[in-house]
Amino acid sequence: MGKLVINQEKILNIDELIKICPFGAMENNQGRLEINSACKMCKLCVKKGPKGAVTFQEENIKSIDKSKWKGIAVYVDHVEGNIHPVTFELIGKAKELSEKVNQPVFALFMGYGISGSAQELLHYGVDEVFVYDDENLKDFRIEPYTAVFEDFINNVKPTAVLVGATAIGRSLAPRVAARFRTGLTADCTILDIKENTDLVQIRPAFGGNIMAQIVTPNSRPQLATVRYKVMNAPERSGEAHGKVNHCTIKEEKLSSGINVFKVIAKEKESGIADAEVIVVAGRGIKSQKDLAMAQELAEILGGQVAATRPLIEAGWEDAKKQIGLSGRTVRPRLIITLGVSGAVQFTAGMNNSDYIFAINKDEKAPIFKVAHYGIVGDIYEIVPQLIEALRAEREE
Ligand SMILES: Cc1cc2nc3c(=O)[nH]c(=O)nc-3n(C[C@H](O)[C@H](O)[C@H](O)COP(=O)(O)OP(=O)(O)OC[C@H]3O[C@@H](n4cnc5c(N)ncnc54)[C@H](O)[C@@H]3O)c2cc1C
Ligand code: SF4
Repeated sequence: MGKLVINQEKILNIDELIKICPFGAMENNQGRLEINSACKMCKLCVKKGPKGAVTFQEENIKSIDKSKWKGIAVYVDHVEGNIHPVTFELIGKAKELSEKVNQPVFALFMGYGISGSAQELLHYGVDEVFVYDDENLKDFRIEPYTAVFEDFINNVKPTAVLVGATAIGRSLAPRVAARFRTGLTADCTILDIKENTDLVQIRPAFGGNIMAQIVTPNSRPQLATVRYKVMNAPERSGEAHGKVNHCTIKEEKLSSGINVFKVIAKEKESGIADAEVIVVAGRGIKSQKDLAMAQELAEILGGQVAATRPLIEAGWEDAKKQIGLSGRTVRPRLIITLGVSGAVQFTAGMNNSDYIFAINKDEKAPIFKVAHYGIVGDIYEIVPQLIEALRAEREE
């Protein structure tokens, strides 16, 4: 990064210069040019303004010795020792990345009474599990959990740390990143690693219009969060490999201003994220009552109905049924989309499904780029026929 430097004496006509900025970030403050927080650092004012009026000064970047940071670490997300499945998905990705740079995979497991569960992680390709088993870590409390994370990073020095984008992960990862003044990329959809161990963190940006590649070249560790069902979990191997390290931390570091009186488990609802078959209603469905068609198809297939964002915004379906960037990520065995265009914000939440079957009357609809099978046609003609054919097959 760097900063803009304004050389007031070189500005002959402030108002002309202000017109150059497409973001309205320049202001005339009693004859002096000022740049406000709307600045996007596009540097147009530097390139197109009068010579030398606004200049860009590169920041002095502190170089780091990347060779001192080794290993890909995964934070083990759990409640009372029950490991969240996103952890195994991240271990699978960490293994893949670590093989590219020939480094180990670590798991950071903190809690109380968890030592037994730590052994389980060795069946998934973790080389070393670092366990902090302490009564003060029984329930998730942000201060002691951050302190343990900090202790782990200071002692192990992993080059990258992957955290599940769960309620706990989303709260913990930014705190840890701030402690180390390092970068954190939330909700990555793709992760890769360069030979120099820079983690390539890919995620939709600018409202999903681009896939941004984010790197953290000047600090370590590199932190990324990933949503559940975005990466593939490895198969559990029968044999355990690797070792479990039992770690301790000074008790005063585990103090907290939070007292947890009781943990009440939320009743598990079966949502679209658990469905094996999903029928998605898009804007091709013309009225709320026509959702019955999608519901009927879903019922025959033993699945659930989901929807695109416009239908949720119209109040036709519950927000829990939205698939996509600002909704849920799903990975069913079969997903059937009815009148869905396939905007990137939608496909980001379903493109890892096993089979994608799209029905859309526009043959150029982007959904056909991610679909394995498709029919170009009117859902109002095709879906009733499909329902009839499926019913006939069931009755045979
Ligand atoms: C920051 C941001 C986040 C977003 N997050 C999400 C998100 O999480 N989920 C989401 O879904 N969207 C999200 N969106 C909105 C997204 O960009 C699209 O606008 C939305 O996905 C479009 O929904 P749709 O496909 O149902 O509608 P449309 O894009 O209007 O597509 C309707 C499709 O139906 C077809 N069609 C019409 N009539 C018929 C018919 N009779 N038979 C067959 N086909 C027919 C048309 O050819 C068209 O392709 C987000 C947008 C932004 C900016
Ligand atoms: S860098 Fe771009 S956004 Fe910032 S003040 Fe200049 S023209 Fe405006």
